[in-house]
Amino acid sequence: MKQFACGSVIPGCQAVFLAEEEDELLREIAAHARDDHGIDEITPDLVASVREHIANVSG
Ligand SMILES: [Zn+2]
Repeated sequence: MKQFACGSVIPGCQAVFLAEEEDELLREIAAHARDDHGIDEITPDLVASVREHIANVSG
């Protein structure tokens, strides 16, 4: 499983995402960024910083 805490990129955000695959996780994050942070464009830079904070979790 892959896990991402939005707060590691956007301080103060409590959202945490969990998905089997990184692609799926990135889609969830993109929807959250759009709906909750008003980020319409997921730039390559943003994807890169998100990827740096994705953790592998077991179970
Ligand atoms: Zn967030």
